[in-house]
Amino acid sequence: MRGNQSDSGRRGFRARRVQTVALFAALLFGVAVGQWLHVSYGADGVGAWWGTAGELLLLRPLQMIVVPLVALSVISGIASIGDPSKLGLIGGATVAFYVGSMLVAATLGATAVGFFQPGAGLDPAQLNSLVQAGGEVFRSDTVRAQRMEAGESLGIGGAWQSILSQILPKNPLAEAAGGNTVGVIAFSILIGLGLAAARDSARVAREALDGLLAALLAVIQWILWLMPIGLFFFVTSVVGKIGLASTAGPVGKYFLVTAGALLVHGFVLLPLMGLLLGGGNCWALLWHVRRALLTAFSTSSSNATLPVTLEVCSTDGGCSKRATNFVVPLGATLNMDGTALYEAVAALFLFQLFGVDLTFGDTVIVVLTATLAAIGAAGIPSAGLVTLVIVITAVNTSLAGRGLAPIPIAAVGIIIGVDRLLDMIRTTVNVWGDIVAAKLITRLAPDG
Ligand code: ASP
Repeated sequence: MRGNQSDSGRRGFRARRVQTVALFAALLFGVAVGQWLHVSYGADGVGAWWGTAGELLLLRPLQMIVVPLVALSVISGIASIGDPSKLGLIGGATVAFYVGSMLVAATLGATAVGFFQPGAGLDPAQLNSLVQAGGEVFRSDTVRAQRMEAGESLGIGGAWQSILSQILPKNPLAEAAGGNTVGVIAFSILIGLGLAAARDSARVAREALDGLLAALLAVIQWILWLMPIGLFFFVTSVVGKIGLASTAGPVGKYFLVTAGALLVHGFVLLPLMGLLLGGGNCWALLWHVRRALLTAFSTSSSNATLPVTLEVCSTDGGCSKRATNFVVPLGATLNMDGTALYEAVAALFLFQLFGVDLTFGDTVIVVLTATLAAIGAAGIPSAGLVTLVIVITAVNTSLAGRGLAPIPIAAVGIIIGVDRLLDMIRTTVNVWGDIVAAKLITRLAPDG
């Protein structure tokens, strides 16, 4: 029996090693081929089918199982913790870490902009041409432009209302059908509590749900084998369209400041927080969970990465199933350190470009609203770009109160060009934050 277990353990280890090598190779190969296509044929040289192939092989298989997986893992996580006072402690600690780490991330972003000043010193002619080009980019995607303008008119009250109404859905099935995981999580928490409260009479239901969850985890194993091919197509398509040299001028400086601050948060602050709060050596953890991080990087979607995050957390990451099942799905929708940091940098950069002198109070508004905007952003590509409007509108309102001119929402167009590349990095940091949280909460909710 023990021999069989160690045989399958060795096989699992070998399979994971092959997958890691394949993922890294696909990533490097994708960057090289994408850049070669961009240099040889320009942005249009990469046919739409590259992206479509990536979507079919990587994104869709993962998206297909996200909603059932969120529901099952949260229900089973909550039902297995059972005791309401323990749940209160675990839930409180999880949310406190989420909000705390997002505030740290947004503060780091604001500090980096203040220090490096990526948007300062532009002459009026340069600013004008940048704003005009940005306005055109902004209007070229009418759906997104309309969503951002609607967000601007709703203001910060609207952002709160939207988050609260997602937490209390009228119809959880409609939320599930629309892929809105916040409502699904809220409903699943209730069902999990109900299953725990019903004790023996719900034993069969609890076991059936655990069985279904085990089946989904087996399906994830199969999907993992498709990932390197999908990742290659995706990365080629993104790099081929944008090109690695698109980072010149003030937008280039903005890109470098954001990317640099994201790396500092991911490699230094998050592991340090993990270590200080009792999660052990999180730099080693960073390497153990690399498959989830590579998936986040290539899909730019915390939600799509969720199946892989759940898998690696409880295997290579050494987190308990109880903590993982509860903390990770919640984090994929609510905890976005990378997005909070990015929103703070992007908003401050745009105000700096327009030569607006922000007070310390304005910067505090940016940090707080960037955290709120990150909580409100869905775990899908470019969601952070849309909720950036919350941050800009909050500062604009504060400027209007002092009789100063606001900046136009269309200014966001200036940074859209490099957004996909930043999205890849910030999504990786978002997922990494969820994993550190799962490691910490493992101490409060060990298995068994
Ligand atoms: N793409 C990010 C995520 O899924 C959200 C964002 O756009 O910042 O985590």
